[in-house]
Amino acid sequence: MTVFDEVSAEGHEQVLYGFDNVSGLKTIIAIHSTALGPALGGTRFFPYESEAEALKDVLRLSKGMTYKAAAAGLDLGGGKAVIIGDPRTDKSERLFRAYGRIVDSLRGRYITAEDVGTATHDLDIVRRETRWALGNSVAEGGAGDPSPVTARGLYAAARAMAQFIWGDSDLGGRRFAVQGVGKVGSAFVRLLVEARADVIVADTYEPSLVAAVENFGVKSVDIDDIHTVDCDFYSPCALGAGLNDTTIPQLNCQAIVGSANNQLATEEDADRLAERGIVYGPDFVVNSGGLINVWDELAGYSKIRALHRVDSIYDATMKILETAKRDNITPNEAAKRVAEERIRDIGDLRRFRRGGDDRN
Ligand code: NAD
Repeated sequence: MTVFDEVSAEGHEQVLYGFDNVSGLKTIIAIHSTALGPALGGTRFFPYESEAEALKDVLRLSKGMTYKAAAAGLDLGGGKAVIIGDPRTDKSERLFRAYGRIVDSLRGRYITAEDVGTATHDLDIVRRETRWALGNSVAEGGAGDPSPVTARGLYAAARAMAQFIWGDSDLGGRRFAVQGVGKVGSAFVRLLVEARADVIVADTYEPSLVAAVENFGVKSVDIDDIHTVDCDFYSPCALGAGLNDTTIPQLNCQAIVGSANNQLATEEDADRLAERGIVYGPDFVVNSGGLINVWDELAGYSKIRALHRVDSIYDATMKILETAKRDNITPNEAAKRVAEERIRDIGDLRRFRRGGDDRN
């Protein structure tokens, strides 16, 4: 497969390779769609083993952002960037500024933010070279770390799912098994404990696990057992592809709501969950709180407005579950349809070009 074959297969609009020999920067920016607005998506800093692997990841992630933004009803398209390197050793001011200049060359067609391997202070450096960098620190006028807001969106989604399944949105007394108590997982556990839910956690990183157990008084299990815990909600807040043909038969939950991107290893895994009667909250819907939060920075960040919008993930989730039930399809399929309909209905408007605004 040539690069052109790979890029055109999923309908991407543009892929940009950028480099800086002085800092060692190697980046790939993928714009999947600008049908609904500028392509927004974070920058993943990761030690990919090959350029082909990096390209594959950025294409997959940028397409996911198109669906996430559309399903959340935002005026945004989908994009993503990867920087090939080790985030623990390869970061420098020069590298992020060189990267910022490459982002800037796209003149707002792509807007970046943080992702795995990048943090708010990195985005503050990128921001010195381009205004198309969001997720900046509060001190720099940004919204800060989006993770607690992502957790708030998960909480709203879980309440909608509880209402849909049991006719009662109260999470008090519900049992949650949370895989991964990092930035999002720990913030989610805090909200659940405050709501008097019964929570059990697992994490590969001992300090995070100990912090969750000590701070929130929750129990823990081995990482290999968390998905098998008898519970109402299983919550994948670690890495993707955790729901697959091996783990799904071992699940002991009624519903799934978690922050991890690309939780389903394959499309068929949505059917596997449905066959087992497990209600799946589509990842790109329930974890959109962080995206909504950074998007708000574009209009001059208002926490009240952003959180209000994040809380509407309750309605978005409910609509998707009801559509899935009505049309006898999986929630994942229903969410994809909602996103695709919006791209079709609203994206078409952008043929009427506005003067003087090259983002539109
Ligand atoms: P994080 O790195 O802070 O937390 C992830 C945690 O998972 C870490 O503590 C890690 O030790 C743990 N972990 C890794 N593998 C594990 C395993 N096999 N079993 C148990 N624990 C494991 O990341 P985060 O920002 O909390 O994000 C979590 C997930 O949510 C990621 O997939 C991320 O892409 C996604 N996400 C995050 C945001 C956000 O606002 N941060 C928004 C949308 C989606």
